[in-house]
Amino acid sequence: MSLLVTADALIDGSGAAPLRPGAVLLQGDRIVAVGAHVAPPPNAERLDLAGATILPGLIDCHVHLSDEGLPDASARDRDPPALRVLRMAEHARRTLAAGFTTVRDVGGRDHLEFGLRRAAAEQVIQTPRLVLAGKIVSMTTPGASSWPGMYRQADGPWDVVKAVREQVAAGADVIKVMATGAVLAPAHERPGVAQFTTDELRAAVDAAHALGRRVAAHAHGIDGIRRAVEAGVDTIEHGTHLHEAPAVARAMATRGIFLVPTLKALANIADAPAPGIPDEIVAKARERRTDRDLTFRLALAEGVAIAMGTDAATPFNRHGENAQELAIMVDLGMSALSAIAAATCIAGRAIGRDDVGLLAPGKLADIAIWDGDPLADIRLLQRPPRVVFLGGMRVV
Ligand SMILES: [Zn+2]
Repeated sequence: MSLLVTADALIDGSGAAPLRPGAVLLQGDRIVAVGAHVAPPPNAERLDLAGATILPGLIDCHVHLSDEGLPDASARDRDPPALRVLRMAEHARRTLAAGFTTVRDVGGRDHLEFGLRRAAAEQVIQTPRLVLAGKIVSMTTPGASSWPGMYRQADGPWDVVKAVREQVAAGADVIKVMATGAVLAPAHERPGVAQFTTDELRAAVDAAHALGRRVAAHAHGIDGIRRAVEAGVDTIEHGTHLHEAPAVARAMATRGIFLVPTLKALANIADAPAPGIPDEIVAKARERRTDRDLTFRLALAEGVAIAMGTDAATPFNRHGENAQELAIMVDLGMSALSAIAAATCIAGRAIGRDDVGLLAPGKLADIAIWDGDPLADIRLLQRPPRVVFLGGMRVV
């Protein structure tokens, strides 16, 4: 069965100028044709959406479906696993309903997310496509006590190798490592300070790459970013202090290492809409606001590939509100077209899924369609999409 979808415009996700009008032809779970006008085969169904813009389903490269944007996540530490799983399913549902057809979860709890993915595969629930890291591989650190079940602490290269292999054995598609301390950790864990040694990071990268898995490195401070880049990770998460060493940004651009800036996470902590976040965490975020902006502008100027990620689940950073990140990217100087590319084609490449994030023949038919023109107002994407297809199946 073929389906021809037409609208006023189509943005393919590559960064190319939009087609006006636009059309995409779906067959089964794939896209078979894209153009301003597409001649449908006989008996094709049609969906004509006047006033709308067709986009690839959006991709968020950095979420934690296990958690939900509470000011203080520890309030939920003692909840039973069944309740946590049901909440996780609801977070995934909201994300899909917001037009995000793929998310990379870079730190779950107790591997519950692998069960979530199985439930989606068995059509018990609907979720976006899930690219999963399992537990975060980290040195022994105070942060692990803040997030029970989210960390696999490992010290020394061989323990790190074992930790990586455990995640892959559990079903991980990507390995998340901590290259520096975190903001959402006790006060004495410092985001500016490097954590894993270069040897430990190299061990993680070698073990992951040998098994065909990419590596995402959480890194705020420049020493940790530099070590992660030297070790050959695939994405730098946050990258807050990258602006302190433009040569490292240039190395990222040259080697094709992506930056996932997670601008929204810091904004929601530093300028929280409501009280409840522990004071020392707010202080850590406020200290880094300017760094975040300087780094984003440097990465743009140096041609670092920027992939969209929200860190959804940090305080007030709720699942389903992911598209707010694109508006912050545009406010910091990125074009709307580039912000959409960062959340589609570039995001797909960053997470090792080049079968999504682009409207082109042969790609999976993950498509989101909004009323209006998001190039005129990127905030349109924060409204519920009119139609969403996941692998050719209409889910909204
Ligand atoms: Zn995160």
